[in-house]
Amino acid sequence: MGSLPEGRHFFHGDDGYESARQATVWNQRVPDRYPDVIVQAVDTDDVVAALRYAKANNKQVSIKSGGHSWAASHLRDGAVLLDMSRVDQTSIDTDAMTAVAGPGKGGSALAAELDAVGLFFPAGHCKGVCIGGYLLQGGYGWNSRVVGPACESVVGLDVVTADGDTIYIDADHHPDLYWAARGAGPGFFAVVTAFHLKLYPKPAVLGSSFYAYPIELADEIFTWARGISADVDRRVELQIVATRSVPNAGIDRPAIVMASPAFADTEAEAKKAFTLLDQCPVVDKALIAVPYAPMALADWYTAVMSNYLEDHRYTADNMWTNASAAELMPGIHRILDTLPPHPAHFLWLNWGPSPQRQDMAYSLESEIYLALYAGWMDPQDDEKYSDWPRSNMASMASLATGIQLADENLGRRPAKFVTDENMARLDRVRAQYDPDGRFHSWMGRL
Ligand SMILES: Cc1cc2nc3c(=O)[nH]c(=O)nc-3n(C[C@H](O)[C@H](O)[C@H](O)COP(=O)(O)OP(=O)(O)OC[C@H]3O[C@@H](n4cnc5c(N)ncnc54)[C@H](O)[C@@H]3O)c2cc1C
Repeated sequence: MGSLPEGRHFFHGDDGYESARQATVWNQRVPDRYPDVIVQAVDTDDVVAALRYAKANNKQVSIKSGGHSWAASHLRDGAVLLDMSRVDQTSIDTDAMTAVAGPGKGGSALAAELDAVGLFFPAGHCKGVCIGGYLLQGGYGWNSRVVGPACESVVGLDVVTADGDTIYIDADHHPDLYWAARGAGPGFFAVVTAFHLKLYPKPAVLGSSFYAYPIELADEIFTWARGISADVDRRVELQIVATRSVPNAGIDRPAIVMASPAFADTEAEAKKAFTLLDQCPVVDKALIAVPYAPMALADWYTAVMSNYLEDHRYTADNMWTNASAAELMPGIHRILDTLPPHPAHFLWLNWGPSPQRQDMAYSLESEIYLALYAGWMDPQDDEKYSDWPRSNMASMASLATGIQLADENLGRRPAKFVTDENMARLDRVRAQYDPDGRFHSWMGRL
């Protein structure tokens, strides 16, 4: 098990290396960072072999599953890069309502398989995102305001440690490492080969509401949204997106889109859950108003993906905040005034107040989540657009409680993503399980 898998590893300079490197990144903007060797694992033996190789050659290890880290956190100079995208086995126990799935499993693929057997898991909102990176960082998925960030439904993990040991971790086995695996995100210090998941019954109804407003109403809409944040039914995920993609907003004019899913037991309940959204004080000025429509999960995935076109170059940044609308509006106006063309967008999510969470590394969230995504095609526009998310979030940082790791940009803007207490504990657990620093850590931290 000491040697790297035949035909499935590429040293820097080998034929096939560059295409293997580029294929590890979903974003078309592939950073100029070059691992020494890329290992395309298909099973746990490959992972163990790569770790032994790294140890014998004193190399650090980085890992990717779906490659959807906006910053391509796994691309590190000189690393042994473990590409886990082929480790995507899935078994579902419908009676026990559990599943065991490999980190390379796409969240939307898992959601579709569960949907077909009447089950549900809070998978992420986009196609292509794999459960590997998604579950380690928290996991803001369908119905997560009710069932919690998806990492709360990870009941155990199969991992390979820095020493190449294959272990199962859960609340009773290696509890510290299990604690870390739910929130450490791109700083986790073991390789996950499988997640053991708790499943839920498929909600009977997935309802949706959809409004689009002219950009001139930004003050009224965001002030209203902030005011109702504690009152939005937890089954409703109120996402407000500023985008230039709404045709009847006027040529090249941004609009504010409020597209919200709600999972419920009956259509009447779903409609009731949306009532508050129809009470927006400027609802009569909406460009489009659809207070309720049934919508399948597959259609939601298609709709969401229109904001994340696959052939674009991206940067992202974000913040959690409890600030008032009055405090946030100057920064929001700066964002709206400089909003780049579609698919760039500004996301406002009414998330909290949150219930008590499990004891896990994930520990930082606030009432409102703000995120910026810049997306463009021409590499010559890198300078024009790439800093838009970072610079705007940096200018609002005094209003932030911290950031989500989902949309992290830590290499460019170090920020807090767990409580100070949990960061200290993460450092202690890392020192225990990875004393030699075999695994690359976050690209930046406070
Ligand atoms: C288009 C798009 C939509 C998104 N939508 C959502 C969303 O709805 N909700 C949400 O919460 N997030 C969302 N995200 C963020 C996404 O969840 C994170 O970027 C996540 O890390 C992606 O997981 P991945 O496996 O695809 O990425 P990767 O880039 O492969 O992984 C990210 C990091 O996780 C670690 N990692 C990955 N696999 C393993 C493993 N097997 N063992 C140990 N460490 C590992 C590595 O450090 C790696 O650098 C979205 C991202 C994109 C690009």
